[in-house]
Amino acid sequence: MSVEHIAILGAGTMGHGIAHVSALAGYRVSLYDIDDGRVSAGLKKVRGNLEKGVEKGKLTAEARDEALALISGTSALADLAPADLVIEAVPERIELKQALFRDLDALCGPATIFATNTSSLSIARIAAALRDPSRMIGTHFFNPVHIMTLLEVVVHPGTREDVRAAVLEYGTRIGKECIVVNDAPGFATSRLGVCLGMEAIRMVEQGVASPEDIDKAMSLGYRHPVGPLRLTDMVGLDVRMSIGEYLARELNNPAFEPPQLMRRMVAEGKLGQKSGQGFYRW
Ligand code: NAD
Repeated sequence: MSVEHIAILGAGTMGHGIAHVSALAGYRVSLYDIDDGRVSAGLKKVRGNLEKGVEKGKLTAEARDEALALISGTSALADLAPADLVIEAVPERIELKQALFRDLDALCGPATIFATNTSSLSIARIAAALRDPSRMIGTHFFNPVHIMTLLEVVVHPGTREDVRAAVLEYGTRIGKECIVVNDAPGFATSRLGVCLGMEAIRMVEQGVASPEDIDKAMSLGYRHPVGPLRLTDMVGLDVRMSIGEYLARELNNPAFEPPQLMRRMVAEGKLGQKSGQGFYRW
C-alpha cells in the first residue's frame, strides 16, 4: 500500500502537528476542519512552528517552504476523497469519530487507510462504523507532535497486516519511534501514565510527601523527565480524571479511580497549567 497523500481531520492541537511532521517528511497533506477559520488557525500554527525551527537552526528555509507548499487546508470533506491515509484528530467523542469515518467510508476508495489519534477509545469500536473495519488502525501521537518522538500504533484484532505495515512505514518516514500495542484500554502509554498519576495524587491526599518531593522522587530516582503530578497539571486534571474514570470502568481496576482530592480540585476549577493552578501554581 503506497501512502503519498494524507488527510487530517481536525486542525487543533494534534491535527496541526500531524500536518507539520507529515509535510516535512514530503507527504502531500490536506488539513480539514469544520470551518475555514479553524483551518486557517491550524495552518498558521504550522507556519509558526516551522518558522521557529528555522530560527533555531533545526530546519532550512527551503525545507520550511517545501513543507508549506505540500499542505493545503479545506473545510469540504469531499476534498479528502483521494487520500491514501486519513488521520482523525477531532475531539474525544466516539459518536463524532464514527460519524466522520462513516462519511469518509462512502467518499474514499477501497485502499484508503483510516487511522485515529484517540488517546483512550477502543479502535475496534470506532472501526465498527466502517464497512471494512480491517483498514482501521490507531496512530497515537504525543503533544507537541513535532517534538515528541513516540508514535503508538494500536492494532485491533481485525487490523490488516498490510495496513499495519504501511502505517509503520509512515511513522518511520516522519521520524517517529514506533511501538505496536494491541487495542486494550489506555494502550501502553495512558494506562501506565494515568496509573502512576492517580497513585501520586493518593499519596498527596494521604500526606506521604509534598507534590514537589513526590515529583522529585520520580524525576531524580527514576529519571522520569517530568514528575507524575507536574505532568497531571500539564495534561489537565479534568482530562486525566475522565481518562481515569474510563480506565477504572473498562479494566475493572480501582487503581485508576480518580482520588477525592482530584475530584475536589476539578470541581474548584484547579485544572492545572491551563487554569493557572493545580498541584503547582503556573
Ligand atoms: P482540539 O480540541 O485541540 O482539536 C480538535 C479539532 O477538531 C478542533 O479544531 C475542532 O474544530 C475540530 N473538529 C471538531 N469537530 C469536527 C468535525 N466534525 N470535523 C472536523 N473537525 C472537527 O483536540 P486535540 O487535543 O487535538 O485532540 C484531538 C484528538 O487527539 C482527541 O481524540 C484526543 O484525545 C487525542 N489526543 C490528544 C492529545 C493532546 O495532548 N491534546 C494527545 C494525544 C491524543
